[in-house]
Amino acid sequence: MRKISLLGATGSIGRSTLDVLRRHKDEFELCAAACGSDTHGMLAIVREFRPKMVALYNQKSALELSKILAGEGIKTEVLSSEQGVCECAIAPGKDGITLCAIVGSAGLPSALAAVKNGITVALANKEALVMSGRLFFDEARAHNSRVLPVDSEHSAIFQCLPSECQDTIGFCDLNKAGVSQILLTGSGGPFLKLPLEDLAKVTPKQAVSHPVWSMGPKISTDSATMMNKGLEFIEARYLFNAPDHMIKVLIHPQSVIHSMVSYKDGAVMAQIGRPDMRTPIARALFYPDRADAGVEPFDFTRAPSMQFMDPDFKRYPCLKLAMQASLEGQGATTALNAANEVAVDAFLSGRIGYPDIASVVSDVLSSERPGTVYTLDEIMQADRAAREAARKAVEERAC
Ligand code: NAD
Ligand code: MG
Repeated sequence: MRKISLLGATGSIGRSTLDVLRRHKDEFELCAAACGSDTHGMLAIVREFRPKMVALYNQKSALELSKILAGEGIKTEVLSSEQGVCECAIAPGKDGITLCAIVGSAGLPSALAAVKNGITVALANKEALVMSGRLFFDEARAHNSRVLPVDSEHSAIFQCLPSECQDTIGFCDLNKAGVSQILLTGSGGPFLKLPLEDLAKVTPKQAVSHPVWSMGPKISTDSATMMNKGLEFIEARYLFNAPDHMIKVLIHPQSVIHSMVSYKDGAVMAQIGRPDMRTPIARALFYPDRADAGVEPFDFTRAPSMQFMDPDFKRYPCLKLAMQASLEGQGATTALNAANEVAVDAFLSGRIGYPDIASVVSDVLSSERPGTVYTLDEIMQADRAAREAARKAVEERAC
């Protein structure tokens, strides 16, 4: 049995992963799980899977859970804080796998801890790469850790690349593999057709109602602004060692194709499937094999007709900001990510309007000029400075 640790176990990706694991109880042992503060979500996981240890970042929630477990005579060890989450990240050991699905920058320390311990990392937490892509892959190479993408577009690109590229992720030679372009597709979110002047009136409830995917509130808002595609652009750059000019963003509202790779001879490889995260999760967990993920087969006779279009940067200024930050480097992408997290949080709690998300991020990127950002300390310092600047920018706009 292969050991697996699931970080972000109570979230949307966490639940989809547990569903895949339920179908393969003889192949995987859930040895550890971590979440933020969802005591009851974690309690249900412990009762069902009996992991050796769990961590709740929030200390009060961790205490609450350990009291309930003691009352039920369950021996699972309950840890807390970032250190506890990092202990869960390394629990599976070198032959195991850690699936990183904590949302936002909070997921970086534990994902890096797994990499530094030579563990295979199935990575959903794209923010970790946006902040630390260079460092992340240098550490993965130094410690012989394999990184497998879980984000659906990156899983699609991975599957469309030859095995030499899959085996050298982070350092692959796209040119040698004959690749001419990576086509990163995105649905365009719920406001693809909304008149531009109506964007100012968009509410958090509308923004989190994604037309195709069912996801957590932060990534759903990022999908509406297409900051998600911007973060994925940066993620793709690091995962596939791709220069910015080789990555093209395409809007494809039906989300039938999950991304594509164009080759120099004119061939284009596309990965097609239902919009269900259990497919990329299973791809990472069972790699290089394939296994049942509980996903219905794709029915071509019922597939919608497919459209493709270039993104309009007036509608999606966040995408443009992310692509500019990508060109500038890790200091700018860390600042972009931090400013976006603060701005999305302020939007979801009703403090700023929808267009303010892009303007807060833009203000922070033009004021913050971090120098060299490579080590974890430098990254965290750039992250803190950008958050501070973003909070001020939010205050200036607060309704
Ligand atoms: P979510 O909000 O549904 O779940 C987030 C999880 O992280 C929860 O379990 C929460 O308790 C945990 N968490 C939050 N802060 C924490 C902390 N400080 N320490 C430990 N755990 C903490 O989010 P999601 O939609 O599942 O997304 C998770 C990650 O996967 C994000 O980075 C997202 O971009 C990425 N992703 C999600 C999808 C999707 O379909 N949901 C697709 C691709 C990539
Ligand atoms: Mg994605």
